[in-house]
Amino acid sequence: MSDFDYDLFVIGAGSGGVRASRIAASHGARVAVAEEHRVGGTCVIRGCVPKKLLVYGAHFAEDLHDARKFGWDIPEPRFDWNVLRDNVLAEVDRLEGLYGQTLDNHKVTVFKTRATIVGPQKVRLADGTELTAERILVATGGWPHVPDFPGSEYAITSNEVFHLEALPKRIVIAGGGYIANEFAGIFNEFGSKVTIVNRGDTILRGYDEQIRDRLLQISMTKGIEFRFNAPFQSITRNDDGSLTVMLEGCEPIVADAVLVAAGRVPNTKGIGLEDVGVELDEHGAIKVDETNQSSVPSIYAVGDVTNRIQLTPVAIREGQAFADSVFGGKPTVVDYRNVPSAVFSHPPIGAVGMTEAQARDKLGSVRVYTSDFRAMKNVLAGRNERALYKMVVNEATDQVVGLHMIGPDAPEILQAAAIAVKAGLTKADFDATVALHPSMAEELVLLK
Ligand code: NDP
Repeated sequence: MSDFDYDLFVIGAGSGGVRASRIAASHGARVAVAEEHRVGGTCVIRGCVPKKLLVYGAHFAEDLHDARKFGWDIPEPRFDWNVLRDNVLAEVDRLEGLYGQTLDNHKVTVFKTRATIVGPQKVRLADGTELTAERILVATGGWPHVPDFPGSEYAITSNEVFHLEALPKRIVIAGGGYIANEFAGIFNEFGSKVTIVNRGDTILRGYDEQIRDRLLQISMTKGIEFRFNAPFQSITRNDDGSLTVMLEGCEPIVADAVLVAAGRVPNTKGIGLEDVGVELDEHGAIKVDETNQSSVPSIYAVGDVTNRIQLTPVAIREGQAFADSVFGGKPTVVDYRNVPSAVFSHPPIGAVGMTEAQARDKLGSVRVYTSDFRAMKNVLAGRNERALYKMVVNEATDQVVGLHMIGPDAPEILQAAAIAVKAGLTKADFDATVALHPSMAEELVLLK
């Protein structure tokens, strides 16, 4: 037995922290984890999971409308936000319970309280209890960034959006990234008047330009309004409870809610990191090497707190790699190449690998194939909404180096296609695969 209370003390029971805790414990380590909010972290409690359920709920608006063209006689549907919200929150409670059970089953001690680091191998709980651990893993995730402007206290973030008392009739969403576009789609389908306000002129920076343009065009057709190059100046509350948003270079907008989705910052404040000499980068993220070790050898970090790729499956990989390397005798380094990603907008986007611009920059000579089509069900429904699939191929090797898709079920299709890109398959390999007809995915093997 070591002289420490634990072999591993994890701060934060989100995606990365829970995975690291349970794998370290399964390798025989004595593990404790502290969580000040709820077990499950951002993804389960106020992120991916409840968001995806809202996306499903929102999509019924289109399905119920289109169903008439498929012969269904549907009375005018009525949407009740409170029913969906409460069902989603109940599902979140259920999942939180399962995460807790997993930790219990692996004999991980859970402290439902805040923990701060008071030494390279020592933490202090909120009640003053001090505990020692041979290693400390920081997995505290990120927090929504709210720019500083007068009236910013009237805005909500993705932390509060799942708990709204009522569906806002008018909502302004600040930002042009993942959360802004996903919630714009959700609220628009529920019938809210949605305006996205962006400080720049680009939505979803990092995604392929043609795909971004397609989403913008479809979103506008669906009635979502956009204001570009319009930084927030202030929000004021009116007597009737509504909010007036003042923007630079634009008319003010009156809304019932303002959602700020301007990125997430690493949760590194007030947990004692600087006091023990853990180095942070200019964004406040913990600097780690490829083994997830910080500048203090006994302190490691995984997930959004390290600001590498802010995605749940990446945090899970990092947690697993840390636990396998340090406690399982199986040194593992996470491979950050060709990480697939999705935006659950209406319609959704899926992407893996290089965009056309990145590939031209890096490889010089590339071939690009696109399929611009209307999904069969959209044709029958009379829905004038076109999908776009795009394949980027390295001219020199014929390897597929990027796949970018917008259209129904794009993330579901992309996940499987990402295996081929990750495996380094060529355009000829795609061509050699017989189409599965009729499907949307068959477009991927029919690109000319
Ligand atoms: P994103 O990084 O996706 O987008 C942030 C947006 O806010 C950009 O449009 C950015 O503009 C703008 N912005 C940044 N700083 C400011 C500022 N000071 N004032 C005004 N606007 C600003 O962040 P999100 O908040 O949408 O999401 C946070 C993270 O969560 C994402 O990066 C993603 O990793 C993760 N996430 C993933 C999802 C998924 O996988 N489907 C879903 C939701 C979240 P500009 O382009 O000019 O920088």
